[in-house]
Amino acid sequence: MLKHKNIIVSCLLTVLVLFLLKAVWWSYFLVFLFFSGMTAWGSFDIRLHYFLKAYTHNPNITQRKIALTFDDGPHEMTEKVLDLLQKANAKATFFCIGTQMEKHPELVRRILAEGHVLGNHTYSHSKTFGFFSTQKIKEEIERNDEILLNITGKKIKLFRPPFGVTNPNIAKALSVTGHQVIGWNIRSLDTVIAAEDMIFNRIQHKIQPGGIILLHDTSLKTVRVLERLLLFLQAEHYEMVTVDALLNVQAYEN
Ligand SMILES: [Zn+2]
Repeated sequence: MLKHKNIIVSCLLTVLVLFLLKAVWWSYFLVFLFFSGMTAWGSFDIRLHYFLKAYTHNPNITQRKIALTFDDGPHEMTEKVLDLLQKANAKATFFCIGTQMEKHPELVRRILAEGHVLGNHTYSHSKTFGFFSTQKIKEEIERNDEILLNITGKKIKLFRPPFGVTNPNIAKALSVTGHQVIGWNIRSLDTVIAAEDMIFNRIQHKIQPGGIILLHDTSLKTVRVLERLLLFLQAEHYEMVTVDALLNVQAYEN
């Protein structure tokens, strides 16, 4: 299996063999390059499960069920997203940022009241989250949990790391907080790609039963893509469910 610990052991064994064979110096450099490349790839692709186990889809589902997930809100656009979901009778999961929930607690309450599910997306969604210490990561997660608890009275179990980044410190922090890590297998790139058509086509081609779609409730562009996507999914007879329902896991602690 492609796991961080396995790669470390394989690289150390390779170095030992190279030493015994009195290999040339650059062969060690190649091992170093391989190790660095694997670590970087594993950090930025949550689907590899390189540092920790993350749910990215449910491969056992045969019925047309799919999960829409929205990151980085609540935001001014969340209301429009909720209106569209309501109209389509679709349920979704919102991975909220703590600082945003402090600004829009009423939206957090509306998300929950309309049958959607909430997840933790850290307190500040720092760009340098991948370089935080285990303690700082734990604080970021727990501070978000506290805000959600204050607004909803619920202890949240679902977590999605900012940018989908994973590393040993994040894995250690999560082993203490006990959250379930939720990734995705259909990335819309809605914060990167400018053209709505391109975003919609990207998602459409990857639609499959049991899939988890990553979107952001932070732009009018995504709202427009969502409108088309919901029509498409309805025409294809898909049921849009929350991630806990799709994966058969618990969203909140009892
Ligand atoms: Zn995010």
